[in-house]
Amino acid sequence: MSVRTLSVEAVSKVGAEVTIKGWVNARRNMGKIVFLDIRDRAGTIQTVGVPSQMTPESVERLKEVRLEWVLELKGAVQERGAKQKNPNSPTGAVELLIKELKVLAKAEPLPLDLEDEKIGLGIHLDYLPITLRSEKYRALFKIQAEIVRGFRDYLNAQGFTEIQAPKIVAAAAEGGADVFEVKYLKNKATLAQSPQFYKQIMVGVFERVFAVGNCFRAEQHATTRHLNEFTGLDLEFGMIEDHHDVMNLETELLRHILNHLDKTVSSELKLWSYIRPELPEKIPYFKLREVQELIKKETGVDHTNEPDLEPGEEKWLGNYVQEKHHSDFVFITHYPTAKRPMYTYPDEADPEFTKSFDLLFRGVEITSGGQRFNDYNQLVQSMKNKGLNPEDFKFYLESFQYGMPPEGGLGLGLERLTARLLGVDNVKEATLFPRDLNRIDLQLSPPEYKQ
Ligand code: ATP
Ligand code: MG
Repeated sequence: MSVRTLSVEAVSKVGAEVTIKGWVNARRNMGKIVFLDIRDRAGTIQTVGVPSQMTPESVERLKEVRLEWVLELKGAVQERGAKQKNPNSPTGAVELLIKELKVLAKAEPLPLDLEDEKIGLGIHLDYLPITLRSEKYRALFKIQAEIVRGFRDYLNAQGFTEIQAPKIVAAAAEGGADVFEVKYLKNKATLAQSPQFYKQIMVGVFERVFAVGNCFRAEQHATTRHLNEFTGLDLEFGMIEDHHDVMNLETELLRHILNHLDKTVSSELKLWSYIRPELPEKIPYFKLREVQELIKKETGVDHTNEPDLEPGEEKWLGNYVQEKHHSDFVFITHYPTAKRPMYTYPDEADPEFTKSFDLLFRGVEITSGGQRFNDYNQLVQSMKNKGLNPEDFKFYLESFQYGMPPEGGLGLGLERLTARLLGVDNVKEATLFPRDLNRIDLQLSPPEYKQ
């Protein structure tokens, strides 16, 4: 078998005979001459079929070839004429003159035009196995993969150890309305909403840990920010002073990810409405009550007793910090103790409020984090204050009985981060295979657009 050359490698092989393998990305007929753009994992390359230059079998096969057929093409790499060069494509100076054409796989006629910008989200999702092949979506999920790589690289370099947290957890673990129950097991179990307990336990083992994993939420509402299954980028570390250590780490983590994207996927970013976010040395931070006072002063809306911001208020604050602080990010700290989970550390100076934070990116929450209780007795007391039975958390509590340093961490939603970065309005579009109330791969109840 001949050695395979990747599309982008052909650029340095002018004059050589090579074998290209890939999918037909486009077909253009110019009389008897046929141009095929071939897509492989590295990019695309123009190939040209001139009947007089091809074996007779190849000429016959070429007549049938359609979009998404997978081909093996043997031929010579040649420089394109000056007028035919395409400066916008990495392979735009060359083309492959086809000699032999072999069909590796046929494809049925496509039900839609993959590069059609006007395909609605519903249709796009129905045909994901093929719409994901379009240039824009390949770029999107390549960018997402590099976000994850940037997350991992930064934390590994900071002495964190990657862990795998279980996704089947005891029913008492997290509670709340938005958990999925798992039947079958003898114990009452649910799907994990986050790796929270396990990453905390692992701080007692490794001091610094992170996890990239699926999180499950039986969300009660359909919104443009919520999925039933999302990817959590989680981290947790010990020996901290307070929540500011966690916020500072996240700031540098985000800076690393943005630099990493510039280095690895700059051309992919150009296919989306990507504007490099403004990330100052220090992301501005406000206490929840300060933000609410600000909103009252600036807009007249008095929500100064509410336990959280409304989506509209988050958006307002996003615009405000962009204008006044030249930052696309803002931390909000000191959410009420009554409204945060039992492991959240209260501010000693004002115990009604916690040393916890949310990070808003362009007006949408992408992270929650904070300092956690590390003292066993305080944690048990906090459970009791929230009407929880410490007996139900015996396993988790063991790590606090046997020496847990001051610690904290955060959970960052991968799909929300991707969507905000690329100017995508609905988080589902930035999710490889989104699950929601109405859809697991296919729409569960047929919508109007299907006759
Ligand atoms: P929200 O208040 O927006 O519903 P949350 O506070 O319940 O989110 P956390 O438990 O704080 O979410 O989860 C940490 C992060 O995980 C969030 O900041 C967000 O980026 C992401 N996330 C949480 N729930 C979802 C979801 N249903 N779909 C997509 N991402 C989510
Ligand atoms: Mg949150």
